[in-house]
Formats: sequence, C-alpha cells, structure tokens
Amino acid sequence: MKVSVYRQRYIDAMKMPERKKIAELYSLADELEAIEKTEEEYRILSDVFIHLEYYSKAYNYFSMVAKSDDVKDAKKKYYIKDHLEMYADRNASRRPRKVKACVVEMPDFKYCSKPLEAGLFEKTEIPERCDCCGKGTNLIYSGPFYSEEDVDVLCPKCIASGKAAKKFDGKFVDDTVLSSAIPQEYKKELCCRTPSYSGWQQELWPDHCGDFCEFVAYVGWKEIKEMGLEDSISFAPESEGYSEHKEDIVREGSCQGYLFRCLNCKKYILHVDCD
Ligand SMILES: [Zn+2]
Ligand SMILES: [Zn+2]
Repeated sequence: MKVSVYRQRYIDAMKMPERKKIAELYSLADELEAIEKTEEEYRILSDVFIHLEYYSKAYNYFSMVAKSDDVKDAKKKYYIKDHLEMYADRNASRRPRKVKACVVEMPDFKYCSKPLEAGLFEKTEIPERCDCCGKGTNLIYSGPFYSEEDVDVLCPKCIASGKAAKKFDGKFVDDTVLSSAIPQEYKKELCCRTPSYSGWQQELWPDHCGDFCEFVAYVGWKEIKEMGLEDSISFAPESEGYSEHKEDIVREGSCQGYLFRCLNCKKYILHVDCD
C-alpha cells in the first residue's frame, strides 16, 4: 500500500526528538484540520491526537471513520474511549509556545558536567518559553520534575539557580531514595538544582566517596564496551543482579543502563532498570 504524504509526515515525526515531534504533530494536525479530509486523513488525525494524549479529539476523529464490524477498529475505539474516560485531555502535550530566536548558554551543574551530551536537555531549532522565567530557551530540559504544578518547559538556568524548584515547589530527584549517609547540602544540590535522567523506574542516584556521583550517559553494555569500561565498572548495589545479564542492557531498550562517575575517585558506576 502506498503511504500518503500526510502519513509519511506522521511516521517521520515519530522519529524526531520529543520537543520537535510535538511541534511537528501540532503543525500536521493544523494542516489536516483545515482541509477536506479522506478516511485516511481522519485516521492520521486520530493517531496524532492519541500521541498528543488529546483524547477528545482523537475520539471524535476516529469515530467519524471507524468501522463497527472491524475488530481492529473496535479495539482502537475502545482504547481511546477508555483513555478519554480516565484522563480526558488532562495529560495532553502542550502546543509549543514560540518565542524570538535566542541562544541559551548551559550553566555548570555539579552532578552532570555535560548535560546536553548526557541527553538531559534537548537542543531545539525553535526556541520555547520557559515556564519559570518566561524567557525563550533553545535548551529544554527533558528529564523528570516532581511537582504538583503542570510544568512543561524549563530552561537550564532556572534549574541551576534553584529558581524552578522553589517557584513550583518541586524536585528533580526524589530525596527519599537517596543514601542517608550523604550530607543534607549535597542532597539539596542534587534534588533542587540538578537536571535528572528519566528511568523506567524510580530514578536512583548512586553515591561514592561521600558524595553523589555525576550522571554521564544513558548506556547499554555495547556502549560500556566501546568506552573500554567493561572490566573497571561497578554495578550500583540495587543493580547488582544485572551483572549476570550484561548483554541484555541496551541503550533506549526495555532494560537500560545509566552511567555515573564518582566525582572523587572517578570510578564508573552503572545503575540499571527495566520497564
Ligand atoms: Zn527559565
Ligand atoms: Zn569514589
């Protein structure tokens, strides 16, 4: 079957980095909503809105074309309806708010010396407005932020200064999972002023030589070998079990590694979790 231009754009968008993908899906939806639609285009629209977790729209568009005697359609319709009833549009991705061109410098973080390379920020072509300071940023935080508030875009400066944690009463790392042996001031630095990584499970943060380690990268065992670390690396205590299944650890896989390094003795430490 020949893939339509719009379907191809949807497929291409799904391969883009997160922020770019959301922007592209919204722009695709805008175009499709403005034209006379074929059945296929209604289906693309519903897929776009499912991905954006905009279930009311996804349901409306899918209902226009779903065939009641088609098992796949019926299943999908049930899926959308179920999510609509559970979440409505509460988790819908926000449409990126464009601002004037700007280039933001990456500040220094004690527990992550190369945050962009480590994948904790996405560098975007189109800058967006930081929810905290209101200024444009082309570096957008992509890790977790635990807050009651709905925070979508954070610039690195508002993380480094502690402004975002204070303003939204939030934390980047949950302090309840941290070692009690580490001084409180270090914990505060980590939880309130450090960009964190996204784990499959609760993000743990290893410590060594009396301080937290720095986050280096998302890795699989392949990357560990490429870096020549396979003989010198230690597994974090919680991840010890994975040392028997090294080859199963795959970057961006369902069993993923998180590489850390001790700030003092420079030893590499690997934390692993699964979906
Ligand atoms: Zn900001
Ligand atoms: Zn150490």
